[in-house]
Amino acid sequence: MKKVYLETFGCQMNVSDSERVSTVLESENFELTSDEHSADIVLFNTCSVREKAEHKLYTRIGEVRAQHSNKKIVGVLGCVAQLEGETLFDKNPSIDFVLGTKASGRIVQAIEKVLGGESRFADLGERDPDYLWSVSQTQKHSRHISFVPIIEGCNKFCTYCIVPFSRGREISLPAAEIIRHIQNLRREGVREVHLIGQNVNSYRPKRLEGLEEFRGATHFSRLLRAVAATGIERIKFTTSFPRDFHTDIVEAINENENLCNWVHLPVQSGSNKILRLMRRGHSIENYFQRIDKIKSSNRNISLTTDIIIGFPDETESDFEDSLKMLDYCQFDSAYIFKYSPRSGTPASQMTDNVSAGEKKQRFTELENRQRSNQTKIFQTFLNKQVSVLAENYSGKEGFDLSGRTSCHKVVHLKGSPELIGKIVDVKIFEAKSNTLYGKVVGNFI
Ligand code: SAM
Ligand code: SF4
Repeated sequence: MKKVYLETFGCQMNVSDSERVSTVLESENFELTSDEHSADIVLFNTCSVREKAEHKLYTRIGEVRAQHSNKKIVGVLGCVAQLEGETLFDKNPSIDFVLGTKASGRIVQAIEKVLGGESRFADLGERDPDYLWSVSQTQKHSRHISFVPIIEGCNKFCTYCIVPFSRGREISLPAAEIIRHIQNLRREGVREVHLIGQNVNSYRPKRLEGLEEFRGATHFSRLLRAVAATGIERIKFTTSFPRDFHTDIVEAINENENLCNWVHLPVQSGSNKILRLMRRGHSIENYFQRIDKIKSSNRNISLTTDIIIGFPDETESDFEDSLKMLDYCQFDSAYIFKYSPRSGTPASQMTDNVSAGEKKQRFTELENRQRSNQTKIFQTFLNKQVSVLAENYSGKEGFDLSGRTSCHKVVHLKGSPELIGKIVDVKIFEAKSNTLYGKVVGNFI
């Protein structure tokens, strides 16, 4: 039996794709291993959103080859594979095969080609019509939480972003299939599902089957109500695209306890000039209106975001606008990225004229401001009771388990291992800028 080691970089979509690649391999009698040294086949599922992620791939291939010469088969999957295609073989001749983002269902065929003596094998083709979206129990990243893709690809073409090129156009999965999938997950004991996609709220299936009984201003808010009706205990969704964020999403959350109180809404910048250059499709005023609606909910919805600093032509005054935006929105968390030019995107034709030093300084300033805002938000949880899905053992000294709240905050807690997989009431006794600490106080389900 051949052993396969699979390493995943990047977003939840990649984690979810890797779960399905592992499921196929397992069903075809390959053994998945977490030990790269003993593996016959090493696979990298790659990310191309920033240059750093792409470089990591070349470093890792170099490490594997240095340790094991040419004994192993090395395959590259995912976004870098899709974008670079056969040119990857020239960049790194020790790669045996390349499988694009939609070809991952044909992983076994690719391995067999190489085992049969073919070199430089590439498949960048479309998904097979009978592609299986489900994941076997053994290959899930968690026993209690499942990622459920609802939309693939992206049509937005923000000027800095490579995703529309690496993932293709938006394709929404049929609602009836999504709902059936979630009903099955619930029966298997899954407590929480994450509806995932580059822009979940741009969801627009070809047919309404499965949504007929559910009202809503958009297909996505109808889907949210339909998924809520399955009775699964927790539903999270990410990422939401600001321009398509209809206020009905907040209404759906208000109406359904099992729609979690967390929205991830990447703003990218506080400056209208930069938002226009990024071609985001929203102004900062539109964005604030959506934030006002989210904050008006009595569910105390937590709000997280992505921000890029140092985009071409970002002046000190544009950056000041981003600081003001941060103060207005009071995000529970923010992923801050330094702008990284991606070849083939419109922004890569603009002059990358914010110096590395300025990027570093703006990054630190924004991060400090966010940390200070965030610390205050986390402090409001002190002595409060929250409901936590205990996901795993805690790596923190003095704590037994870790999990997340409905509002997606990490909580370390004291409690027995039997609580893993349970939703427990926890009283918070300590709050840091990114993490809550508490003890179990009573009920669990
Ligand atoms: N679709 C989501 C949206 O538009 O809100 C985001 C998906 S993207 C894979 C994740 C994040 O990566 C983006 O929100 C953006 O902040 C960041 N990102 C994308 N391209 C980037 C680039 N060229 N340089 C720096 N950060 C980038
Ligand atoms: Fe990239 Fe923009 Fe699409 Fe998000 S919406 S994936 S940032 S192009």
